[in-house]
Amino acid sequence: MKIVGIRETAVRLNSSLRNAVFDFSQMSTSVVAVITDVVRDGKPVIGFAFNSTGRYACGGRMRQRFIPRLLAAPPDSLIDPASGTLDPERALACMMQGEKPGGHSDRSIAIGTIEVALWDAVAKIAGQPLHRLIAEKWNEGRTVAKIPVYVGGGWYAPGKTLVDLQDEMRRHLDAGYRLVKMKVGGAPLGEDLQRLEAVLSIVGSGAQLAVDANCRFARAEALAYADALAPLQLRWFEEPCEPADFALMAELCARYAPPLATGENLFSTQDVENLLLYGGMRRDRDLIQVDPPQSYGIVQFARTLERMRAHGWSPRSVFPHGGNRMSLNIAAGFGLGGCESYPGVFGPFGGYGEDVTVADGMLTVPDAPGIGFEMQNELYRIMKELAG
Ligand code: MG
Repeated sequence: MKIVGIRETAVRLNSSLRNAVFDFSQMSTSVVAVITDVVRDGKPVIGFAFNSTGRYACGGRMRQRFIPRLLAAPPDSLIDPASGTLDPERALACMMQGEKPGGHSDRSIAIGTIEVALWDAVAKIAGQPLHRLIAEKWNEGRTVAKIPVYVGGGWYAPGKTLVDLQDEMRRHLDAGYRLVKMKVGGAPLGEDLQRLEAVLSIVGSGAQLAVDANCRFARAEALAYADALAPLQLRWFEEPCEPADFALMAELCARYAPPLATGENLFSTQDVENLLLYGGMRRDRDLIQVDPPQSYGIVQFARTLERMRAHGWSPRSVFPHGGNRMSLNIAAGFGLGGCESYPGVFGPFGGYGEDVTVADGMLTVPDAPGIGFEMQNELYRIMKELAG
């Protein structure tokens, strides 16, 4: 059993949406295909992944460093002798050869995307959905049929009015979602408070609403927003400040009693551990939102959860960034708190496919082998084309 080829293509997201910091008009993502020599139903097994949303395509690094390392490795060195199948842990170690410590985001997204695509292949070879493989390896085989889900929405968009924002939230509730998130920080505080008031009148209470500032605020503005938001008792306040400003996070945690959330822009186990050690984060309420394909993949994510456990944190505190089938399989397999959804945005890269349904704030966990991108017609068309 061996990897016979790895291909990457960069695809534009083609979105005019905007958060507090940037718009998605230039945003792209890397789609990866890992082609194996294993044949199932007369066809080679191919694993797929993409590098989630919000970080640009990174095929140059893949082609210069990580793909050649994997293809040059003796095939047996990438096989787990116990199971006789391709081993993502060995593949991760292989891709890390010759890499200097630190500087994680220089490589964590490229490596993580290839690693997750390899997992897709491994799960298909095993004839299992990826979440079941993860549950067997790391979660005592515990599987779930449904998982909590929230909508990552409430974007700023050209010409979008308060009524449009309310209509959007109504659509999410009608579609079966119970918890929604909206962007803040892309308008002055007074205007954002009007947007919040408009959305609260639709969703009912602060417990049904989270906000995301996408790291926009320096200290004064972060504290002003925290003070203004506190009485609303929101489900959480996400990324108020620069992701590595642990001192300001600690100050916010001491001042703002409702839950805070961050982590989608931390790319290593050590960064997450530093957040827990120095960011003042409270394990009884706060959320960690690492994006596994952007932070070295699933094996490294398991190591991050292990470090979190050592500091008394439960996997239930983790809601991975990235509303896609990768994060759904990962959340279900590891028993995480829930996952995100981007209905109707990011084109083929948003949504889950027809075998995944939402009702009463819960998402069904799919049974398709691997990650199951084959169930997402538009996305799978891109992947199939890439694989040739
Ligand atoms: Mg976010």
